[in-house]
Amino acid sequence: MTQVDLTPDCSRCAALCCAALAFDKGPKFGIDKPAGAPCPNLSSDARCTIHAGLADAGFGGCEAFTCHGAGQRITQEAFGGASWQDDPTLAAPMFSAFQDALRIHNLLLLLDEASKLPLPDPAQCAAFRAVLTPDGPMTTTWLRDTLASDISARVMAYLQTLRDVVART
Ligand code: SF4
Repeated sequence: MTQVDLTPDCSRCAALCCAALAFDKGPKFGIDKPAGAPCPNLSSDARCTIHAGLADAGFGGCEAFTCHGAGQRITQEAFGGASWQDDPTLAAPMFSAFQDALRIHNLLLLLDEASKLPLPDPAQCAAFRAVLTPDGPMTTTWLRDTLASDISARVMAYLQTLRDVVART
């Protein structure tokens, strides 16, 4: 099975987290921003204009956030390196796909962590990771079909069964 890289690489992403996700004004974010609206601190070339001083500017939540590699995967694999900033018609599908990929990568991260435990059935963990890993590029069709299945619920139910393993570790 191909190991999925869960390390974010913003240089290969079209700043999806800065536009697709919502945040609320508070201790972690300086403004209210709805999902799908580009952050006003985002430049036209996908850079954060306050990157050097995020926390001081009241955007510590941006520093703390990680997409676990979902952003570059959607940008490069599902959309061939295109950007919604260059082609606004891509905004809605890219943002939707990014939200879906976030769910997949969050599950993969949990399973990666679980795989480090002395599991009673490591093959089950590996099987779930395989289901969450497309054979080729991650496409919007693969995302839709995978998330339409009961895989999320099955993975979460499986992880719940590991509580005793975690407690013993
Ligand atoms: S403040 Fe910077 S890192 Fe945070 S969402 Fe806006 S552009 Fe992105």
